[in-house]
Amino acid sequence: MPETETQQRLSYKQGSADRSAQGGAAFESWGRYPSYRANLIPLHWQSDFPAAIRGIHDAVLPVGLGRSYGDVCLLDGGNLLPTPAMSRLIAFDPETGLLTAEAGISLAQILDFAVPRGFFLPVTPGTKYVTLGGAIANDIHGKNHHVAGTFGRHVTEFELVRSDGTVLRCSPNENAEFYAMTIGGLGLTGLIRWATLKMKPIVSRKIDYEGIQFHGIDEFLSLTEASKEIEYTVSWVDCTSTGKNFCRGIFMQGDHSSRRDELKPSPEPKLVFPFNAPGFALNHISVSAFNTLFFHKQMGKRQVALQDYEPFFYPLDKVLHWNRMYGKSGLLQFQYVIPWNNAREGTVAILKEVAKSGLASFLAVLKAFGDVPSPGVMSFPRPGITLALDFPIKPGKSFPLFERLADMTMEFGGRLYPAKDAAMTAAQFQAFYPEWQQLARFRDPLITSSFWERVTGEQPNL
Ligand SMILES: Cc1cc2nc3c(=O)[nH]c(=O)nc-3n(C[C@H](O)[C@H](O)[C@H](O)COP(=O)(O)OP(=O)(O)OC[C@H]3O[C@@H](n4cnc5c(N)ncnc54)[C@H](O)[C@@H]3O)c2cc1C
Repeated sequence: MPETETQQRLSYKQGSADRSAQGGAAFESWGRYPSYRANLIPLHWQSDFPAAIRGIHDAVLPVGLGRSYGDVCLLDGGNLLPTPAMSRLIAFDPETGLLTAEAGISLAQILDFAVPRGFFLPVTPGTKYVTLGGAIANDIHGKNHHVAGTFGRHVTEFELVRSDGTVLRCSPNENAEFYAMTIGGLGLTGLIRWATLKMKPIVSRKIDYEGIQFHGIDEFLSLTEASKEIEYTVSWVDCTSTGKNFCRGIFMQGDHSSRRDELKPSPEPKLVFPFNAPGFALNHISVSAFNTLFFHKQMGKRQVALQDYEPFFYPLDKVLHWNRMYGKSGLLQFQYVIPWNNAREGTVAILKEVAKSGLASFLAVLKAFGDVPSPGVMSFPRPGITLALDFPIKPGKSFPLFERLADMTMEFGGRLYPAKDAAMTAAQFQAFYPEWQQLARFRDPLITSSFWERVTGEQPNL
């Protein structure tokens, strides 16, 4: 009998567990699945990357803050090189906004430095607790993708250190192929030691915010069309409701305020999710109730506010370790982009499948990507609609649903985001990213990840 994809996934886990039997420490990705052990060799500002791994007889992988959801930042039984202690600011030019820093610096640390000086990140994801290196390796996107493109587009140069000691300065004009393969290159081309980022000027911490309720995909598309000139747009969508409430949501848009205001640094977050919630806490009833409350928390169709950038960009960062809410089994993220020709039909079909499944997801985000090209060959975004969903991992339910959704994404000509993935199959990845063989040629022979082994079958050349 042919193996199902789920069985293949389990046997992959079984196979790689042999390497992890040697021990090591747990390094978790944000989804807390899969759970692997690895030897940790933290790098700091004085570290010499090839020297730090001399005498090591297994594969290595540089990692940041582990804010990827799946296994791009894991290496079962191998050696992880955490970079957050490699976080010095190297240079800043207030005339040009060019900021150079070691790659382990977090976006939160960059903001603490830059905001009081009147500068902001050119692109930011939904959490500020990611490193500069991680942002480049996944070529992350934000709410301004339709006008600013991806993060990599604002990285003017970086230094790449290979495990054989070769040091490459990479920019669009120097070692251009390594530049293009490393942006979105999943950490496989070498260690990014430092990078230069072009920051954008701001005069206030505030965002001119507008939230608009919508009912249905067509209202979402009209709002998208009408907001092309607005820098930031994103929608929360209720993916549990059916019938007249199907695809209802809140379209959130904003621009940096042009009214001068005090540019003080952000306070430290105080709330921490204190324990692993029991598996039953998130179910269809609790999530539907949350979605109804969230939809109606906005009184009326439109809400206008002058909002601080923290709740606008990073509402989830307010509670540290909120991923514990999903319990010990963890969560799966599913994020697709479907190109415009099938974007409407594909999104409706997938949202119906999710609602039908009854699997809870209250963190569902819908957005239109623009057509600003990325310099990264393996970059995920392309023009169309992207939808990101979280599922608690429930035995026998979550993986079959994921598999159906991934197949539907393929049928509609879309693809999934490796930074959020722990479950796509090798066949799916290779169809989504035919450029993977190009990346394989630029991969550092000592570097690999559990993700890469899973979706390509390639082993490190030790
Ligand atoms: C709440 C939340 C919201 C998010 N929102 C978004 C979003 O809106 N848009 C988006 O695009 N993503 C989003 N993400 C995903 C996140 O931005 C990416 O996964 C990001 O790459 C994580 O960075 P990190 O520093 O934690 O890196 P890790 O997750 O530790 O590693 C990510 C990759 O970077 C590589 N890497 C890290 N440092 C280096 C280095 N110095 N040199 C070479 N390779 C390196 C690793 O090998 C790995 O392949 C979100 C994640 C969370 C938890």
